[in-house]
Amino acid sequence: MALLRFAPSPTGQLHLGGLRMALYNHLYAKKVGGKWMMRVEDTDATRFVPGSVEGIRKALDWAGLEYDYGPGKEGPHAPYFQSERLDLYKSYAKRLLDSGHAYRCFCSADKLSATRERLARTGSNLTYDKTCLHLTEEEVTRKVRAGEKSVVRLNDGNLPTRPPASDLVFGHLKDAHASLATDPILLKTDLFPTYHLASVADDHEMGITHVLRGEEWLLSYPLHLDLYACLKIRPPKFAHVPILLNPDGSKMSKRKGDVQVVDYIRGGWEPQAVLNWLALAGWGAKHETPPPSSDSSHSPRPQLMQKAPDSTTLMTLPEMIEEFELSALTHRSSSLDPSKLEYLNKHHLIKIWSTPDGLESLAERAHDQIKAAFPTSQHTNISYIKSVILTLEGRLTNLHDIALHAPFFFMEPDYTSDKAMSMLKRITPEQRSQTLDGVIAVLEAASEPWDQTDLLDLLHKEREGLDVPYKAYMTVLRHALCGQKDGPAVADVMRVLGRDRTLDRLRGVHP
Ligand code: GLU
Repeated sequence: MALLRFAPSPTGQLHLGGLRMALYNHLYAKKVGGKWMMRVEDTDATRFVPGSVEGIRKALDWAGLEYDYGPGKEGPHAPYFQSERLDLYKSYAKRLLDSGHAYRCFCSADKLSATRERLARTGSNLTYDKTCLHLTEEEVTRKVRAGEKSVVRLNDGNLPTRPPASDLVFGHLKDAHASLATDPILLKTDLFPTYHLASVADDHEMGITHVLRGEEWLLSYPLHLDLYACLKIRPPKFAHVPILLNPDGSKMSKRKGDVQVVDYIRGGWEPQAVLNWLALAGWGAKHETPPPSSDSSHSPRPQLMQKAPDSTTLMTLPEMIEEFELSALTHRSSSLDPSKLEYLNKHHLIKIWSTPDGLESLAERAHDQIKAAFPTSQHTNISYIKSVILTLEGRLTNLHDIALHAPFFFMEPDYTSDKAMSMLKRITPEQRSQTLDGVIAVLEAASEPWDQTDLLDLLHKEREGLDVPYKAYMTVLRHALCGQKDGPAVADVMRVLGRDRTLDRLRGVHP
């Protein structure tokens, strides 16, 4: 059975890129009937931010991405925090020391930086001069007994045959070992592992079959393959997913916009739309071309994009699972275009509110925000909000737009505002009073219950008897009811406001 892992480091809030990794792990695991876990990579105490794990779990919950194993969901591979698995990494380091694939290095930080500078001055591409590799066994034992601090380094001069580096997204990687550090550190002086040793040990011990992770780890991938070979264990399959960029090709950063999932939660976006947006960034490049030939580090996969959704294809999570193919992921960096999220969100909203439960849950979610925006409004109960949402069908890009675009449903329009006053510029006082007199009279006379009154028909019939052009007639009514040009059809606004509020507003603006 396929087993995957999403392995965040608890260094802060979950980023969109992290959510996309969790999503791809979820999609692939579910697609092939496998499982996935969340493994917390907390071995770097200097980067630990308290509350991160809780934040990541909340973000996954919001997105509806439920891991099969992980914090709070114990399973056969526990513990899921690397800081609780230190003995395992020590035992792996010992195996490598015993087999001569690793050695202890006692060099101090100062000595190491002086060495690095010296090597760089001489034009060497080594990053360490391997001093400690030449210590005798007796010297090492003496230093250890004397309590001297040491790290464990891989001995890159004594490696088994290097396996070819092949990636499910990037294809075969040429010159894959060229950029590795000299004898990289595996276990630090504090006996915590580096990412390399910990991830290899865990992926093996936990039985991970597929590693789907960010492209930033592509350069370390050959080192990991070396470790697998030294340890004589089989590597899982690897798929590195290109990083996400802004539409202008720049790196996504906090300064340039919303990059944390929590921003999207607070922003009122639909989780399904955000997932859809992230899924399609990097998947769906139908007209993909191979990477430029100057790029010598990787060659294209032989076959690209068997089937690919369009970059605006609307998909729910189950549909994404159905469609997902690892082979359809692109090795090009993908950009996240906010306008696509707006498009997807709008259409996900329509999909959601066309189901009875969906409408109810949208109204519940909108409720808090509307209450906060209009604290004194008497018109914020759930069934009223439901009718507002239905009336705004197709106009809402985001649930939070209700308060922004249709405040007139919750409070009296501000007729003194510029946007209200400008509506009446081309309306004569006669047109205005004729319209208001006529409509007030006809609404007062309407005998049927409000929700059964054909308001549109009634408004049309009334206008036929007046000497007011259609546009002016509707503008007068819209001004009275909404105080702004934009909004749903006037008859729909009346229906939602109800008879009393409609008549109050019409009477209230009568000159
Ligand atoms: N802990 C790594 C990170 O947060 C994850 C790397 C991996 O998935 O192997 O970037």
